Amino acid sequence: MRGYVKDVYDKLARKYPWEHEFLQAALEVLESLGPLMEREPRYRKHRILERLIEPERTILFRVPWVDDQGDIQVNSGYRVEFNSALGPYKGGLRFHHSVTLGILKFLGFEQVFKNSLTGLPLGGGKGGSDFEPKGMSDNEVMRFCQSFMDELHRHIGPNTDIPAGDIGVGGREIGFLFGRYKKLRNAFEGVLTGKGLNWGGSLIRPEATGYGAVYFAQAMLATGSNAFEGKKVLISGSGNVAQFTAEKVLDLGGTPISFSDSTGSIIDTDGITREKLAWVMELKNQRRGRIKEYADEFGADYFEGERPWGLTEAQVALPCATQNEINKAEAEALVKNGCICVSEGANMPTEPDAVAVFQGAKVLFGPGKAANAGGVAVSGLEMSQNSMRLSWTSEEVDTRLHGIMNSIHEDCVNASADLGVQGDYVIGANVAGFRKVADAMIDQGVV
Ligand code: NDP
Repeated sequence: MRGYVKDVYDKLARKYPWEHEFLQAALEVLESLGPLMEREPRYRKHRILERLIEPERTILFRVPWVDDQGDIQVNSGYRVEFNSALGPYKGGLRFHHSVTLGILKFLGFEQVFKNSLTGLPLGGGKGGSDFEPKGMSDNEVMRFCQSFMDELHRHIGPNTDIPAGDIGVGGREIGFLFGRYKKLRNAFEGVLTGKGLNWGGSLIRPEATGYGAVYFAQAMLATGSNAFEGKKVLISGSGNVAQFTAEKVLDLGGTPISFSDSTGSIIDTDGITREKLAWVMELKNQRRGRIKEYADEFGADYFEGERPWGLTEAQVALPCATQNEINKAEAEALVKNGCICVSEGANMPTEPDAVAVFQGAKVLFGPGKAANAGGVAVSGLEMSQNSMRLSWTSEEVDTRLHGIMNSIHEDCVNASADLGVQGDYVIGANVAGFRKVADAMIDQGVV
């Protein structure tokens, strides 16, 4: 990296040296944009990069709540409204003990480009809390969500900012958040996505991120006349994205062979069948248990404290847990074990030097902002259905999702070809996502 983009990055790194994940995400985007900045000086003239890396608004608040023992607990709440050039702020809420402002800035920044890639009128944002729902009772989760919404409701609305789920925020949490919003505002409106099906949610929304990541991998494989059929697939995580990633892999004739959670990984070389997947969904979504129980139930191997990547041979890897969960050594192990395709269901799961390993070995590599855009795409479709007060069928939503993922794939291929690096999906996604946002910012003046 050199010249203008390097100056922009260096200044950012001096200003926020403790925001490691945000700096990592910004560095990757700025590196990709270097050649475009030299070719099209108007972006520099309008100081688009300097404006893009600073959120439009950041909201920080206290979230006090009472636990089941009657003790008062206090968590931090955040909403980062990053960019509204293309539409109202849109992006999930993460509830996890590791949440910091830096992590939410990284996620919000990525979201701006991701939402642009969907082609829908969506700006980018992200929010959440260091509250950890794991181990809490339903009543504790409800009281926390209500207190969180007591502040958040002032800042969101169907035309302003529309949050959704992310790690630790699923259907249960969205329900509690929506209920409180409705009561506080006396308005039943499409202010959150991922809602229940009988109160404004969209069919295929729970499935969308996982299905989309597999559709993206399918499109990448097709460029080499390849397909999922007969391939062994490593999946990390065992939450929302991982579960529906596994389901779509099965639909397309592949064999999922792993899941993980924050305590360890299971490898099932016999293959995770539909029946075993249904069991995992019950374990994780109802009983809220640990993935280790899968090994006890089905006689699979369990690896305490390990991630699935180096553990066995597979042709496709689909990271669906969290950021920075594939390091360089794990990427090398994947390549050695025959991996030809990686599609990121999670946000930024691959460390930068691991991305370099994949690209050096000509592994098809789909970065999260393109590969996992299916979730926000169907959230956008949920907003459309709410506005029109109607519901599309599963087939209709799935067809639109598949079409959006194929068009994101095509945009990435075309943008990378235009810059002479065809097949580099990282540069393709960053440039294609950037252009629409940057051009809208120029049109809208200095605001
Ligand atoms: P869930 O909370 O449903 O599941 C998260 C999974 O990842 C769990 O298995 C969890 O294990 C595991 N995990 C979380 N943190 C860690 C960690 N630090 N180390 C190891 N494992 C971890 O979240 P989602 O499935 O919704 O999200 C997964 C990823 O997908 C995230 O990166 C998210 O940003 C991304 N994403 C999600 C979208 C969505 O629509 N939900 C949209 C686009 C991207 P445990 O239960 O032990 O914590």
